Amino acid sequence: FLARVERLDGQPSEGGTVLLTLHDLTTIKRMERMRADFVANASHELRTPLAALSGFIETLQGPARDDDEARERFLAIMAEQAGRMGRLVADLLSLSRIELNEHTPPSERVDLGHLLRRAAAALKPLAQARGMDITVEVVDGLPEVLAQPDELAQLFQNLMDNAVKYGRDGTQVEVAATLAGTLPPAAGPALRRGGAIRVAVRDHGEGIAPEHLPRLTERFYRVDTARSRKMGGTGLGLAIVKHIVNRHRGLLTIDSTVGEGTTFTVWLPYAPE
Ligand code: ADP
Repeated sequence: FLARVERLDGQPSEGGTVLLTLHDLTTIKRMERMRADFVANASHELRTPLAALSGFIETLQGPARDDDEARERFLAIMAEQAGRMGRLVADLLSLSRIELNEHTPPSERVDLGHLLRRAAAALKPLAQARGMDITVEVVDGLPEVLAQPDELAQLFQNLMDNAVKYGRDGTQVEVAATLAGTLPPAAGPALRRGGAIRVAVRDHGEGIAPEHLPRLTERFYRVDTARSRKMGGTGLGLAIVKHIVNRHRGLLTIDSTVGEGTTFTVWLPYAPE
């Protein structure tokens, strides 16, 4: 703890009323450390594709200048690296925008069924390219939720995108929205006060070992960095999901069995009548 004592009237003399401020330095230090780590990680993630781009530009200006075959190949890699930088910058911007608004409750009434079908339709081409399909089942008469619609769409797109990326070729991604029933123990007051909706995004992929689950929503945390990069991942998708869920006063739970697949479940409170 850091203790600071000052007289309320600012006078240096003895006696009078004093203000005693106690700061928990462990929390402050931990937050400073997290911020510094984040900036270091983000810079490193940006520097890797940038170094690749610089390297290829130099080669194209020098030794490969007149080599048509090499030029085509290098340009394809450069386009991929530029795409990776673009995705990273887009995710970093999303994260900071969502963080800024995290304490403002969302206020638009949203029909989840409609939003889930649109998110699934956007990802269908990606799924079909791997022989996969995304099915969406929504229980009749599902109540609306109070939401920021773009953020909520991004939340489910990120989860469906992961389910496709980490699912096995030829399998299905199943999205199901129902009334919550029994709530998990970690459910907060917003979910307990009124009713809650449960949206499950289930894949049949490699699954995630239990030791990784607690850290999965940390920024840049990946189970297998090489695989995530190969699939075009930034390592920020689930961090964004977690912030959006928090803003909507909901909860995210993850159930996974290695070798069988993973279910990400989002619990959201109903909009009041
Ligand atoms: P990425 O861009 O790497 O996919 P995310 O934040 O979306 O980043 O996910 C973090 C990590 O969690 C991924 O790198 C992957 O290891 C793991 N992961 C996320 N979703 C799934 C899933 N559906 N099945 C298996 N692993 C997953």
